[in-house]
Amino acid sequence: MLAAESRRFRRGPPAPAQLTVLSGPSGVGKSTVVARLRADCPAIWQSISVTTRPPRPGEISGREYHFVSEPEFDAMTEQGELLESARFAGYRYGTPRRPVEEKIGSGEPALLEIDVAGARQVRAVVPGALLVFLAPPSWAELERRLVSRNTESPDKVARRLEAAKGELAAEDEFDITLVNTSVEDVCAQLVALILGQDANGTPGDARQGRQSLHESQCNSELEGTRWQRLRP
Ligand code: 5GP
Repeated sequence: MLAAESRRFRRGPPAPAQLTVLSGPSGVGKSTVVARLRADCPAIWQSISVTTRPPRPGEISGREYHFVSEPEFDAMTEQGELLESARFAGYRYGTPRRPVEEKIGSGEPALLEIDVAGARQVRAVVPGALLVFLAPPSWAELERRLVSRNTESPDKVARRLEAAKGELAAEDEFDITLVNTSVEDVCAQLVALILGQDANGTPGDARQGRQSLHESQCNSELEGTRWQRLRP
């Protein structure tokens, strides 16, 4: 379901989740939002996934992804090194377990940008994770973005659009939906969620540490960020 409002909570106000998962259909703009967040808030740690997909022009191993071979991916899976993993449009993707566990252990917030199948697995192994669904403003806009970014061949775009139908249907499994009408707005909303702001956009006492993190490390403008609760 695609709705007009830009934020929709399903499970009350945001809890101070240490692990935030950003998910949603391919082409919706997750990686653009995450790149913006990396620039604005370098102190918010982001997991770097492993993938068997070849790098796109401009992608650097160790920044966007760790690019690995199928046998390397198999070995990581067999050795239990992945927190979650999924096959997407012909390639494999996974989240290295240890860095995430270390961040959780140190009490610092961590962000994953993964597909819907991976988000489900994280929900099962980290029940307190905050699952954020990034939705396109419309189906036509998603199609336009996937085609116009010119990173995939037409058959791969078709595969991603087919996958997107199933991913959009999973929206209700997530704690909150952010509609990607503007990268700046979504980024600010995501930062506020990660910093644990409450439904009025103000930090609670238990989240003071993260507010300090924001004040000292983030450039995003959060004024005016307000939340709409769907299910009190
Ligand atoms: P892309 O090939 O466009 O970079 O990514 C394809 C899809 O894989 C996107 O929906 C992206 O969020 C997802 N993805 C990236 N890393 C991971 C990961 O570690 N695990 C899972 N499950 N999905 C991922």
